[in-house]
Amino acid sequence: MVRKRQKEIGGIIVIDLHTHTLFSDGALIPSELARRAECAGYKAIAMTDHVDHSNIDIVIPGIVRAAKVINRYWGIKVIPGVEITHVPLESYAGLVKRARRKGALIVVGHGESPVEPVLEGTNRAAIEAGVDILAHPGKISSSDAKLAAQKGVYLEITARTGHSGGNRHVFDTAAISGAKLVFNTDAHTPEDLMSQEKIDLVLGELTGSREEIEKILQNSENILKKLKV
Ligand SMILES: [Zn+2]
Ligand SMILES: [Zn+2]
Repeated sequence: MVRKRQKEIGGIIVIDLHTHTLFSDGALIPSELARRAECAGYKAIAMTDHVDHSNIDIVIPGIVRAAKVINRYWGIKVIPGVEITHVPLESYAGLVKRARRKGALIVVGHGESPVEPVLEGTNRAAIEAGVDILAHPGKISSSDAKLAAQKGVYLEITARTGHSGGNRHVFDTAAISGAKLVFNTDAHTPEDLMSQEKIDLVLGELTGSREEIEKILQNSENILKKLKV
């Protein structure tokens, strides 16, 4: 099926729904990240910079503007987004609404990674607030994963070092609870962008089933289709 997809669209197949630019702690401006991604075989990339109440109104319009121009003239599709990161739980839902109002098409929640002191309850707050993707949710509970399944919130399998320590637990918990998975790089530098072959290898460490890998990749396709970028 992967081979078929490659044939269909000329080898341009990667969809990555969680990356960073220098609007937060990434290395590149959006246009360079888009250019690098296009050269790496990407067909779509969401730029989801870290936001809290201080910078959300500054970050989104810049990325929306860059995305508009890039999407008009280049083959790659840039999806403007945010990653809501380390915010008081009581303010979570309001910030998700604000992000969408300001033009974020993808709202990622910075989940309870095993390598950062993310406030306990953040996974729950993000799911309840209706983020699109809960990133690196670490030791997510099965009840939170069930709620994610009910609300259509995707749980993330990540390539990011450190955060990826939770992948096995996230994969297994999603399987039991029925939550859907997506794979993202959480790229902060051009070196973090990945080829489809490399992505397949990382997912292959979690499951030997080609069908399961395809299902995860298909979820990103489905999100992209729905966005109509
Ligand atoms: Zn970061
Ligand atoms: Zn991130």
